[in-house]
Amino acid sequence: MQYFPLFLRLTDQPTLVVGGGAVAARKVDLLRRAGARVTVVAPNLSASLASLSAQGAIQHIAAEFCPEHLHGMRLVIAATSRQAVNAWVAHQAEARHIPVNVVDDRELSRFIMPAIVDRSPVLVAVSSGGDAPVLTRRLREQLEALLPTRLGALATLAGSVRARVKQRLTTPAARRKFWELFFDGAIASDALAGRAQQAEETIAASLQSAVSRHAEAQRGEVALVGAGPGDPGLLTLRALRALQDADVVLHDRLVSDEILQLARRDAELINVGKAAGDAPISQERINELLIEHAQRGQRVVRLKGGDPFIFGRGGEELQALAAAGVRFEVVPGVTAASGCAAYAGIPLTHRDFAQSITFVTGHEKDDQDDTVDWTALARPAHTVVFYMGLQRLPHIVARLRQHGAPADRAAAVIEQGTQATQRVVVGTLATLPEQMIRERVQSPALLIVGDVARLHNTLSWFNHDATRVSVANARWSAS
Ligand code: SAH
Repeated sequence: MQYFPLFLRLTDQPTLVVGGGAVAARKVDLLRRAGARVTVVAPNLSASLASLSAQGAIQHIAAEFCPEHLHGMRLVIAATSRQAVNAWVAHQAEARHIPVNVVDDRELSRFIMPAIVDRSPVLVAVSSGGDAPVLTRRLREQLEALLPTRLGALATLAGSVRARVKQRLTTPAARRKFWELFFDGAIASDALAGRAQQAEETIAASLQSAVSRHAEAQRGEVALVGAGPGDPGLLTLRALRALQDADVVLHDRLVSDEILQLARRDAELINVGKAAGDAPISQERINELLIEHAQRGQRVVRLKGGDPFIFGRGGEELQALAAAGVRFEVVPGVTAASGCAAYAGIPLTHRDFAQSITFVTGHEKDDQDDTVDWTALARPAHTVVFYMGLQRLPHIVARLRQHGAPADRAAAVIEQGTQATQRVVVGTLATLPEQMIRERVQSPALLIVGDVARLHNTLSWFNHDATRVSVANARWSAS
């Protein structure tokens, strides 16, 4: 960049033009349009300058230039027809650090003047640094043709509502949105077409609707977020963002401390999980808490283990929010079946072992047992994942056997899957109930029934240094 582009506020500032001819008159005109106070030094004035002087619009010093004339000036333009005089003015101005322009002489000039398209307050300035004045003029002509005549009026209109917009829309994002609509929509087309009245009315209406949209955005909302099975690396980016934006986090007991530490430092953490010994918080109370916090205008994260829509009662909580008119979003998570299977090296499907999967809650009450289609679950080439099945594992195994699952159907239990403390117990329907007792498996644990579980022995990859319990079954190699 040869020159530094800037727009200079010259309103009421003293400026000097040396020269009294037609060229000087053009510069005087430009300076006056910018509101500058103009003094012209010249022994004689052209007719137009003389008349300005007579009206008192400019001050005239009828003399040859001398350095004292520079005193107190913001800016100087040398526009005489005598090169020597122009050079003298330029040197004197430079010595006093006053910006100077010598007409048609960029070597002597500290600043040059661009070609302009004036749609005040919108100004477009074009310069080629003096290298290609004709090109600059062409560009200026093209811009003239391109820019609507009433562009200035549009800008003035925007300026006139600026303060009002700033006062009513308190966030930069809301204001940006409003201005985008302002310049891209009906307001701009009305203003540019000269329908000033209409433009004013549209402004009022669109500011009003921006204000209501803004208020709505300010209202609290709930993000129902899946935290995954434990390893913080399995959080989604969206879950992380929600945690970092949260005012309050209501979390289950299953959610690990490592994950909770990712919440915004100032966020309030509320454990609504049923910790052993504490009185459990009812689902109704959890729903109430979510609604209360959101209605206070807070950003609430409801953080659940795994995926919120898989045995997480996420749907019920959203129904309560919807009924209360609270806005919400859902961030899915890696469900325990995916996470535990992956970290245990047990592909849930495999062309040799399973073509379909069922996720079942193992926690049904006995009288709901009939709703489970045990025959379907017991069929071959199928994987069944039981959530919350630890306590009822002997019952589940017995039912599957009764409905035709063979004794050597492989099965695995994964305790604290995806975490450093993960343990995997692999066996068959015949051996697993006893292994569970021997290994004292604790909750949370996931039961996977299906011959894919055999692959654990070759595909296990995670946590190899930790204690791993894996029981090979001799009969597997035979089948
Ligand atoms: N919404 C959760 C499931 C909630 S039900 C999800 O999508 O994963 C709770 C059950 O999930 C537990 O009883 C256990 O069976 C299983 N579970 C969750 N996290 C687990 C983990 N890290 N290891 C093993 N099982 C887990």
